[in-house]
Amino acid sequence: MEPIRCLIIGSGPAGYTAGIYAGRAGLKPVILEGLQPGGQLTTTTIVENFPGYPEGVDAFQMMGDLRQQAERFGAEVRSQMVTKADFSQRPYRVELDNGDIVACHTIIIATGASAKYLGLADETKYQGSGVSACATCDGFFYRKKTVAVVGGGDTACEEATYLAGLAEKVYLVVRKPFLRASEAMAQRVLSHEKIEVLFETNVTGLYGDGVVEGAHLVWRKGETDEKNYDLPIDGLFLAIGHKPNSDLFAEWIEVDAEGYIVTKDGTPVTALPGIFAAGDVADNRYRQAITAAASGCKAAIEANHYLKEQGL
Ligand code: NDP
Repeated sequence: MEPIRCLIIGSGPAGYTAGIYAGRAGLKPVILEGLQPGGQLTTTTIVENFPGYPEGVDAFQMMGDLRQQAERFGAEVRSQMVTKADFSQRPYRVELDNGDIVACHTIIIATGASAKYLGLADETKYQGSGVSACATCDGFFYRKKTVAVVGGGDTACEEATYLAGLAEKVYLVVRKPFLRASEAMAQRVLSHEKIEVLFETNVTGLYGDGVVEGAHLVWRKGETDEKNYDLPIDGLFLAIGHKPNSDLFAEWIEVDAEGYIVTKDGTPVTALPGIFAAGDVADNRYRQAITAAASGCKAAIEANHYLKEQGL
């Protein structure tokens, strides 16, 4: 069977945008949707910061629209996922969850990243009803409300500061007796009048009738002075890090210490010819739908150039 000219792995803003551009370039791209069709964005509700939607847009609707747009230009969307990659030879090969092995001239890896969660059943129960892992996405819904952010790193401090611009009160729940964040970021949080840092504290659960109304906390867990108490909040934001979904490819392409795929500065180009990485799987810094979409666009343009150069 003829190799696929452009395989796009992932169906978030990066994957679908790559599909639109690759489709329009006549590459007949195949998009593998993966486990979470629509990507991380579908864990939120309304997207209000994607240009072009003055009233905001339902995240599922937006991802559905992007998908349709890609399909309109000839992208084939398959509800499959990659289970194994073999980049040792060209055309490259990937194995799918149905056991098929497909050959591809170019591959755009747009598998995204997954926010880390604490692993509490209540996080799933209240997902979208008071639990979020993205302050930039969902913070707006907590104007003049009380929220808690979990984490003590730069992301948590950044999210807490962002939320403090909207909410009435922000608690930062930190499991250690200190912040891991950079000095400047930590100082901004510690000196912010709306932010209260709860050191040596862990969230053990959430409560509320359909929506989050508070969190169960434990202070100095396991110590003789351990204290359990409830904190009324309207929203819980997890900011304990992200994990890029790059495990399948790490054998073949360079990833950094945290697992993000290494690309040439400002481009989706990896060290392997014809293999590109777009969106959050290669972006530890911006992680926005619009920046992911932009890198998907760049990846498709690069894939097209590569195919032309190779006469494929
Ligand atoms: P980090 O890994 O730096 O921090 C994660 C935080 O979450 C830590 O405080 C950690 O606690 C805490 N944590 C992890 N697991 C749990 C858990 N199960 N329960 C409670 N707390 C938990 O991740 P970040 O996303 O903050 O940052 C990632 C990288 O990106 C860093 O290098 C950071 O500097 C960088 N970054 C830079 C920014 C900037 O410069 N503007 C902005 C955002 C990120 P503990 O300390 O105990 O491990």
